[in-house]
Amino acid sequence: MPTQATSLARLYLMQVASVPPMNIPAVCYLVQTAGGSSILIDTGLPGPELLPDDLTAELSEDVLTQIAKLDLKPEDITTVVCTHFDMDHSGHHDAFPNAQFVVQRSHYDDAQNNPRFEATRAIWNQDPDRFIFVEGDHELVPGFTLVETTGHTVGHQSVLLTLPQTGGVLLTIDAVDSEANFSMDRDVSPMNEDEEAVRASTAKLLDIASQDEVALVIFGHDPQQWESLKKLPDYYA
Ligand SMILES: [Zn+2]
Repeated sequence: MPTQATSLARLYLMQVASVPPMNIPAVCYLVQTAGGSSILIDTGLPGPELLPDDLTAELSEDVLTQIAKLDLKPEDITTVVCTHFDMDHSGHHDAFPNAQFVVQRSHYDDAQNNPRFEATRAIWNQDPDRFIFVEGDHELVPGFTLVETTGHTVGHQSVLLTLPQTGGVLLTIDAVDSEANFSMDRDVSPMNEDEEAVRASTAKLLDIASQDEVALVIFGHDPQQWESLKKLPDYYA
């Protein structure tokens, strides 16, 4: 992937829940551009009223509460990048009245009839006019590239950012859930829809991460790594 002039300013990490007994973090991200736009990557778990009984997640502050600490209102979010519509990634898509939703077309099409995404369907299935459909890798704004990583779900996407001081930051999201699985002999759990595609996407991300420009790889649900990372209100610049 080519080196890009960056127009990004900050990356904030938000934990919205933790799943015992391993304290697996459920997370989402906020990217602020140099021009002052605010882009969310996923929106975390929904409120307690929508959580299934068999999910024992300990909720922490939700995305709205956390961005409010930065004096951001829901109306200030211009874009929500949808990595995929699993419940822990799409729980507040309906809270941002001015946002457009960026999704891989293949994921959106699959999700229309896939029961996997039923729990938060009423939340993520906004007016189709509010979606921006992309196909494959796509530069959203300079320094912010969507990387198609199908496998965990059809049309799952990861994100490659270029920050002015940190350099390249690769958010694998659920294509690679933990550092231990960032290798070709990784485990592929039944949470993934297509094992062969997960392995191909892992190879793709390993290739991107091996490039000099990538300074930090953040995994989707890694409790050990998460402890070491900066979280909102701290940020990566
Ligand atoms: Zn997830």
